[in-house]
Order: sequence, then structure tokens, then C-alpha cells
Amino acid sequence: MVEKIFVTYNDVHKLCQEAAPKIVEDFKPQLMIAIGGGGYVPARILRSFLKQPGSPNIPIQAIGLSLYETLPNDSVVEEPGTKVTRTQWLDLSSLGEMGNLVGKRVLIVDEVDDTRTTLEYAVKELEKDVEIARQKFGGEKTEFSIFVLHNKDKTKKGTLPHDMFEKGRYHAARTVGDVWICYPWEAVDIDEHDRLGAEQKTSGNVNAK
Ligand code: 5GP
Repeated sequence: MVEKIFVTYNDVHKLCQEAAPKIVEDFKPQLMIAIGGGGYVPARILRSFLKQPGSPNIPIQAIGLSLYETLPNDSVVEEPGTKVTRTQWLDLSSLGEMGNLVGKRVLIVDEVDDTRTTLEYAVKELEKDVEIARQKFGGEKTEFSIFVLHNKDKTKKGTLPHDMFEKGRYHAARTVGDVWICYPWEAVDIDEHDRLGAEQKTSGNVNAK
């Protein structure tokens, strides 16, 4: 049976709080792109802790991505086993100057890096969109960074640009084993969820470092 970890709202809040100073130090994001649905709550909490005195709040844009496992007997095999579809993409028209992502520092936020397929898709597609804009209008390179609450320490299907790791542009608040993480926003009974989370903490059975 796959081990389950119960993460509470309190845990999510504290993971974001703990990660924020390093993200500010390494990157100073100017815009966040939250991958829905799991990236929305962490992005909002993180924003409070990224806020610098005298500077405005960092805008958050939402994108929706869904990962579909293709069935083994599918006649069209696009990639080994997986396919990401866009359910929502950027709306930059309301962002004024930030609407042009060229030359900006953009933090992509999701709740978990599992097979890395979703993050690979997000980075590649965003880089493509930005490059089209850069060729049209000119300007500096856009820098992307990633924040996730949890990274699973496992063989990944997706890849990210090497320099993201080399330049400290990949932030995971916790690295865990190949477990199933139960996030509070998915809980049907939040009191029971919190009880299980508390029980795991007292028993020390939380497979995270
Ligand atoms: P990927 O495999 O592309 O890294 O992750 C795809 C998506 O699968 C994640 O954004 C998340 O929605 C879901 N997912 C993967 N592992 C877990 C997990 O342990 N718990 C939950 N709740 N969702 C997960």
C-alpha cells in the first residue's frame, strides 16, 4: 500500500513562510504563475511572505494544467504514457506593464513535483510564449523559477533546464519519498484530515526531510 502523508493548512502556511526568505534572496520574483488547482493556495500564502516593505504585492496569474495518463492500448502514443492539457492559460491583459513577461523574474508555483511532467510542460510552454514576445518587442531574457511544497525523490519523466538547479531557481519546501500526499483542500472531512496529520506528527511517521 502506498504510504499517505496528511498535510494540514497550518503545515502549508508554515512551509510557504519558511521557504519565502530563500526565494527572495535567490530570485526576487516580480510575478507568480500558479498552476491550478494545487498551486493556488500555496501561491496566495507565499505572496504574503514575499511582500517587501514599500513594494506592492506580487501579482498572481493562474494557469490550469491536467495530466492524463494515456491507456496502454491507445492507438496514438504521443509521449511515453502521459499528456498534459491546458484547461486555462495566461490572461496578461489586466496586468499593465507586467503583461509583457519579457525580461521579468517569474515564479511558477505548484503543490507537488511528482513525475515532473506538468512542470516541464509549464516551463517549456511559458518559455515559448515569452520568446515569441521577445522576438517581436526585443528585451532581456525572462527568468523562471519554481516553488513547490513537496518534491518526490524519484525517477522523473519530465526534465527542467539544468541552470534552474545550478542557479538555485528550484525551490521545494520539503523533499519526500514516493508517497501519496493528502492536501487539505482535497479533504472531505477536514477535522479527520487534521486529526490524521496530528497523529502522524506525534508518531514521527512523516517521511519528509
Ligand atoms: P506531475 O506528475 O506532473 O509532477 O504531477 C501532476 C499532478 O498530479 C500534480 O500537480 C498533482 O495535482 C497530482 N499529484 C501528483 N502526486 C500527488 C500527490 O502525492 N498528492 C496529490 N494530492 N496530488 C498529486
